[in-house]
Amino acid sequence: MDRAETLVRWASEAGFDRAGIASLEPIERGELLRRWLERGDHAGMAWMEQRSAERVEPRRILEGAKSALCVAVQYAPLAGAVEAEGDLWPRVARYAHGRDYHNLMGKRLRKLAKRIRQAFPGSETRAYVDTGPVLERELAARAGLGVQGKNTCLLSREGSFFLLGEIFTTLDLAPSEPLADLCGRCTRCLDACPTGALPEPYRLDANRCISYWTIEHRGAIPEEMRQGIGEWVFGCDVCQEVCPWNIRRQSPAEQPDLHLPPQRAELDLAGLLALDEESYRERFRGSAMQRARREGLRRNAALVMGNRRDPRYREPLTEALEDDDPALRAQAAWSLGRLGARSVLAGARERETDPAVAEELDRALQVAAEPFSTGT
Ligand code: SF4
Ligand code: SF4
Repeated sequence: MDRAETLVRWASEAGFDRAGIASLEPIERGELLRRWLERGDHAGMAWMEQRSAERVEPRRILEGAKSALCVAVQYAPLAGAVEAEGDLWPRVARYAHGRDYHNLMGKRLRKLAKRIRQAFPGSETRAYVDTGPVLERELAARAGLGVQGKNTCLLSREGSFFLLGEIFTTLDLAPSEPLADLCGRCTRCLDACPTGALPEPYRLDANRCISYWTIEHRGAIPEEMRQGIGEWVFGCDVCQEVCPWNIRRQSPAEQPDLHLPPQRAELDLAGLLALDEESYRERFRGSAMQRARREGLRRNAALVMGNRRDPRYREPLTEALEDDDPALRAQAAWSLGRLGARSVLAGARERETDPAVAEELDRALQVAAEPFSTGT
């Protein structure tokens, strides 16, 4: 067994579902990254502009680096457990249900990197999960873990629900074989995206992506995005759920750490909206959902309530109109407008001193007066 095969086997022993070796030549598609940034498709994610030299020239990441061991962890069964979890969890991106994958994968990667350094004295390593200046999907594609799908996710014959990490090493390792295209003439993901964030194959416009707005964006979500967000409380899986390669996948991988834990399973939309700082910390400790922060999760819960137009949400939304966070008040106003709660909105309008929220209340009052509203 050569060194590359040995490292791939060790990755499997460390708990990774797939592994392969990538060479560190400059990324041929670096030009695409530049165009993506120039177009502003990265929306408010300014960090994508930083360290772009390392992103397109991965050798720069570690002095003397010659190869990367790329790894993947498969997550989220498509059927069964996830769909059975109450009114909130089906619409949280599957990768975020359980423990934060950065911790889970980081721990495994550090252990694996140590094993490599010990076995090959004098070699150096550097491990990343999502956080480094690394075009992870490009490297993983080189390492044969998948090919880029038209939804921009990395796609393999086992689907696209997997998380990526990599260990850069100074060892010179034989690269793995890349996979061939798996999309063919299919365009299901492009057709299914609820907000038009995939305007053409292989191009994601984050300015229209539900994942961006519900996770990365701080403050009020623009009105034109709200209906399209639909039921999504955190992230979005639509363009992966419709993919035939995910639908076909028969045997869900068992990664119990990525399953929904009891302290969050019992939360519903109203529970999420009512979270105070202490219960937020208790319930979301070690969860990838912390990326949206408590403010973002509560705002998203209020938004989904408006999209559901369920009169049961009138009371929690009315309470949210009194909150200190103006973005939450603005969102609650929009949702109450869709519930036709005219008198509540009128009362809040009299008290409101923030001009942006006041404007939102004015618009909500107009909407509440329209015939489709559900009552007063
Ligand atoms: Fe569209 Fe959702 Fe995919 Fe974003 S994650 S591109 S919003 S389907
Ligand atoms: Fe490719 Fe079709 Fe899957 Fe989109 S839905 S990633 S086009 S196979």
